[in-house]
Amino acid sequence: MIQTWLYIVLTLTASEWGFFGHKLINRVAVYTLPTEMIGWYKPYIDYLSDHAVDPDKRRYATKHEAVRHFIDLDRWGDTNFDHIPRYWDQILALNMVAYSVNKNDTTYLLKAIPHEMWSDSVADYHNRIELVRNHYLRQYYADEAAIPCDSLQMIFPDLKCNGNTTVYLHDVFSEHGIVPYHLQVMQRRLTNAFKNNDLESLLRTSAELGHYVADACVPLHTTANYNGQLTNQVGIHGFWESRIPELFAIDEFDMVVGTATYIDNPVNYFWNLVLTSHKEVDKVLSLEKQLSETYPSDKQYCMEDRLNANVRTQCADYARAYNLAMDKMVEDRFRVAVKAVGDAWYTAWVDAGQPTPPPYRAINKRNAADEELDKAVQKGKELGREHE
Ligand SMILES: [Zn+2]
Repeated sequence: MIQTWLYIVLTLTASEWGFFGHKLINRVAVYTLPTEMIGWYKPYIDYLSDHAVDPDKRRYATKHEAVRHFIDLDRWGDTNFDHIPRYWDQILALNMVAYSVNKNDTTYLLKAIPHEMWSDSVADYHNRIELVRNHYLRQYYADEAAIPCDSLQMIFPDLKCNGNTTVYLHDVFSEHGIVPYHLQVMQRRLTNAFKNNDLESLLRTSAELGHYVADACVPLHTTANYNGQLTNQVGIHGFWESRIPELFAIDEFDMVVGTATYIDNPVNYFWNLVLTSHKEVDKVLSLEKQLSETYPSDKQYCMEDRLNANVRTQCADYARAYNLAMDKMVEDRFRVAVKAVGDAWYTAWVDAGQPTPPPYRAINKRNAADEELDKAVQKGKELGREHE
């Protein structure tokens, strides 16, 4: 029943390549909500689904967006990632660089700590965290984070500061992806939207939190080899997360994932999503590699009509063979994502004190900010790391 209904809606609305999965996940997640919430979310289901893709659109509008969608875990270790601090200020503290500029001379004062040495016994760790909290976070989006020279004296008591010295901070972590930290920010934002009873912010933040949660469930969002570019498998990103769901999700994925449950510890929960995704990276890559070497090469790519254009894409039978080789992995990660989106929404509502949401009112599906986003997408240049 759910599936037939989804099919009708999505064949009408899934006009953007690659956006299908996010729209579907947010839509199905509404059905995981407990009775107290579902009656309230359901009238807005089209909004939640449409706006599921706003964060991907925003990648065209600001260079700060891309890093929120992934984390290159393999940059920071091989198999064990326990040493990576789970909190934003902690990881930034270990990856903070500070340099002073005096006339034309640049002097490096603070260096990043190599990841093999990350632990809370790092000298000055707590001072570094203070530096991040007091001086860096509020300037995170500035092109250059300038701070008073003497604020570094808690780390370097002998540092000489004079009127011509400016100190700059820069973190060397964010560019390699921050999704598990951004999820914590979004979760707090949704809790606050519930507390403030702010309908527009509540819906927008629900839709966008759903996006980042779903990204965290995709193995290729957790590796530096995110599009197979290091193993001669370029295009595998879209193959896994767009092509396979588009072909098989509606007819073959089991969409019933149970009722959303409360998340006791969102930090661990979000990290767990990323870590379990990462466990599948080797399989995602090696199974496609094997298949591409054994499957008839002239039957791997087909031309297909899409959005009034004839595009080259993986053939349906080839996609089926890859999906079969992965033994329901895509479906499993989809189901994990749906449940996790429901869990995150439900948890925000509980943490806000289970408020009665604002009464139903029709809200503008698209406002001026949405138009701006669409314009940026039409210009067609992604800023920061490209998606596929
Ligand atoms: Zn994304």
